[in-house]
Formats: sequence, structure tokens, C-alpha cells
Amino acid sequence: MQYLKELFLNISIRHIIDMAIVALVFYKVFLLIRETRAEQIVKGIVLLLLATKISQWLKLYTVLWILEKTMTVGVIALLIVFQPELRRALEYLGRSRFFTRSFVEIKDEDMNNLIEEIIEAVASLSRQKIGALIVFEQETGLNEIVETGTKIGGDISTGLLINIFIPNTPLHDGAVVVRKNIIKAASCFLPLTDNANLSKDLGTRHRAALGVTEKSDALVVVVSEETGSISVAENGKLSRYLDISTLRQTLVDVYKPEKQKQSILSKWRGKNEEKE
Ligand code: ATP
Ligand code: MG
Repeated sequence: MQYLKELFLNISIRHIIDMAIVALVFYKVFLLIRETRAEQIVKGIVLLLLATKISQWLKLYTVLWILEKTMTVGVIALLIVFQPELRRALEYLGRSRFFTRSFVEIKDEDMNNLIEEIIEAVASLSRQKIGALIVFEQETGLNEIVETGTKIGGDISTGLLINIFIPNTPLHDGAVVVRKNIIKAASCFLPLTDNANLSKDLGTRHRAALGVTEKSDALVVVVSEETGSISVAENGKLSRYLDISTLRQTLVDVYKPEKQKQSILSKWRGKNEEKE
């Protein structure tokens, strides 16, 4: 009893902060690995740790020896097996609000034009059933991908975007990478997803779109050559058969900070109602 009392008296604000941080980190790690292949592996590690403890208690020295050796090699093996996940986790850290740089320093009016130029291009490509793949860089830098293609460095415009994807032209194959208001490169190669649960009618263009969003926070717009349908990939998920207004909303989310969103959408709606 005395002991418990002392224990409680000794708890300082520092201990509480310490425990809160540990709890938060565990919670975040749990969220991060839930429903990934890491989940099984973590379960496996917990089992191994338990088995080590039990063989210690029961004095099963040979079993213990093997388990301990496995663990030492295991740590190195884990680093190798989890290289992509570790990388993703670190990138996720770097992307957190604290470090976020403000995205675009473009004037509001120019931003509206920019979004309309992109939408017009995508709508036109979709009508003509010209396949297209446009990657919008966000916080994660995509220089490695830009380097696989042909540098462009031109302002975004409907004409340029359409022109790039016209079949049988040198740059139409592969992806365009957009950084802010600049088309950085065309004909870029994207990593393909290895997601096995994808619909069979999705080919490599859509798999490439998903692949890059699994490894970065980029947003990808895809126009299908077969159907002309518009899809958007983000965070490893594909939304298919988008209409133009949903696409506009998505691009506004990319280009506009929260507080400006309402105004641009309502302005556009107002303009449209005038037309009708
Ligand atoms: P669509 O609906 O347009 O037919 P899809 O998902 O069925 O699309 P494919 O028909 O295989 O895909 O499209 C092939 C085109 O996708 C290629 O010509 C190329 O332009 C593009 N593409 C394929 N793989 C990649 C890649 N790894 N990176 C960038 N672009 C790619
Ligand atoms: Mg196809």
C-alpha cells in the first residue's frame, strides 16, 4: 500500500507526457500496418518473443538458442523485407503537417484558369478516346519519375496537354508529370501496382496510375483509350467513371487550400446557372 502511494506521488507531468507519446506512437504504427502484410509479420514476431520467454522459463536451452539466433538474423531480414514499408513510413513522417510547405504560390485567378485548362484537356481527350495519364505531384517529390521521361518544362495549357497524348506522336506513350503549374515531363515510366484485386479490365495504364500513388501522395488522372472514361487514383485507390464536376472538385482539392475551395466552386456554379 505504502509502495503504491509512493508510486503515485512520484508520477510527474513528464511521466505522463512520456506515456502519452508512447501510446500515440503505438497507435499510429498500428493504424499504419493494419491490413497490410506487416500485420502478419508483427504477429509472427510477437509469437517468437513469447516462445523465447517461455523456453527461458522452462529452461529449454537448445530451443532458446535457436530462437535467439533466429531473432538476430531476423532483425536484418526484417529491414530488407520491409524496406518499402519503412521508406513509406519515413515519407509519411516527412509529409506530416508540421513540415508541410505551402503548395502553390499562384494567384487565385490563375489557379482557376489552370484548373479549367486541365479539365478542358481531359474532357477533350475523353471525348476522342485518346488514352492519357497525368500525374500531379504533391508533397512527395517525383524527380525520379520525371527523369524516366522527356523534359518539357512548359506552362500547363489545354493545347499542350492534348497534343502530348495524340497517338503515334513521340511523347504520347507513358505519363505526364505536373508540378504546380508546369508540365515537367512527358513519356515518363511509372511503377506498376502489384495489387491482385484489381478488375481484369484494367490494363497497364491504370496499374501504372495506381502504382505511383502507392509510393507517393501524388494524384493521377487517367483517360482510358478503350472507353474514354476518366479515373482518378490516389493513395492506391482508383475511382472510375468520373464526371467532369467530380474531376473539377478533385483538382480544386489538389490546388486550393481549404478556405478557398468554397469560393471557387460557388463561383463556378453561379457561372453555370447563368448559362442555363
Ligand atoms: P486503356 O483503358 O486506355 O486501354 P489500360 O489500363 O487497358 O488502359 P493499356 O491498354 O495496357 O492499359 O495501356 C497501355 C498504355 O499505358 C501504354 O501505351 C502506355 O502509354 C501506358 N503505360 C503502360 N504502362 C505504363 C507505365 N509503367 N508507365 C507509364 N505509362 C504506362
Ligand atoms: Mg487497354
